[in-house]
Amino acid sequence: MMQIHPVPAFEDNYLWVIEDGRHAAVVDPGDEHPVQAFLESKGLELSAILVTHHHGDHVGGVEWLAGRWKCPVFGPAGERIDGLTQRLREGDRITVPGLGLELSVLDVPGHTRGHIAYVGPGIVLCGDTLFACGCGRLFEGTPAQMQESLAKLAKLPGETRVYCAHEYTMSNIRFALAVEPGNAKLFARSERDAAARAAGRPTLPCTIADEQDTNPFLRWASPEVIASASKHAGRALASPVEVFTAVREWKNNFR
Ligand code: ZN
Ligand code: FE
Repeated sequence: MMQIHPVPAFEDNYLWVIEDGRHAAVVDPGDEHPVQAFLESKGLELSAILVTHHHGDHVGGVEWLAGRWKCPVFGPAGERIDGLTQRLREGDRITVPGLGLELSVLDVPGHTRGHIAYVGPGIVLCGDTLFACGCGRLFEGTPAQMQESLAKLAKLPGETRVYCAHEYTMSNIRFALAVEPGNAKLFARSERDAAARAAGRPTLPCTIADEQDTNPFLRWASPEVIASASKHAGRALASPVEVFTAVREWKNNFR
């Protein structure tokens, strides 16, 4: 049976390890040390590395791990990342060596220009694009690109589990509550996730349904989010891109 584990790193990263008891694949290993320690503690053999984008907290451990385990490194065709052996773009399908797990690739530009996501049976590995109740900052892409990328992810089946790369959930929820204070599902989520954090548990994975119900960056059709974003922007916003752009700018300056 396949299992997916969060390996914590840095301040708030999760380096996800997918394993079947014998082989493992790691997603976005920003640091080799906690990954190697995890593999040793479970007696696992690393058979693949998957990368979503080029930032250091996602690729810092790639070369060491690839050298130690002689395994392939999958990553975005559109970004310069040392050590990639398989360059992927939207529509590509891979079978993860060792695990036999089939994944398909989506292009999700916005946080970075070439960011990709991996979609498998009931799961999506989405790096810094979609976060629990939030989304990545726009370092390289445009708001229109990010809105389109998030719309792609939002169309996945509701029960899809979302494995994103950072534990930002509680601060994202604080912002979401400022945008959509009338959303009862958001309050319920806040209580549930606060309890998880208080118990030392990750808030992840969440589901696409959770995000559709509570993530202000996907709720460009919610009358309350439209009204609230329009008020903040000081003008009437209508299109999904306009609403998304205003919510993203609001969050950039939210304390
Ligand atoms: Zn990043
Ligand atoms: Fe990151």
